[in-house]
Amino acid sequence: MDCIFCKIAKKELNSEVVYEDDDIIAFNDINPSAPVHILVVPKEHIESIAHLNGNHQGIISKIIFTAKKIAEDKKLVGYKLVFNVGREGGQIIDHLHLHLLGGWNK
Ligand code: 5GP
Ligand code: ZN
Repeated sequence: MDCIFCKIAKKELNSEVVYEDDDIIAFNDINPSAPVHILVVPKEHIESIAHLNGNHQGIISKIIFTAKKIAEDKKLVGYKLVFNVGREGGQIIDHLHLHLLGGWNK
């Protein structure tokens, strides 16, 4: 499948990985909008929040807990977590991802 984030998950494309396990990969955004801008991404290709079904409760929870852990590891005092959903919602890459934005007070 021609999906940038699937390729990053399979290491067919390079990225600056900050966290990885069997289900999730998190890497620095290539065009950061904040001093810390990390994308937390399920390895499974899910198009967006709008495409979630009941089987995805575990993975979506894990994405949020992973963002929390990365924020703690990076000692972010406060941060924003953003899911863009669909073109009107500002989503450009059609593979679900959580933006972790912070680091303004460092
Ligand atoms: P969206 O607008 O879909 O929510 O966000 C997509 C994000 O992916 C953007 O912030 C963009 O900078 C980032 N991005 C797009 N292509 C790449 C890439 O090839 N590598 C990395 N690390 N980030 C990317
Ligand atoms: Zn994908």
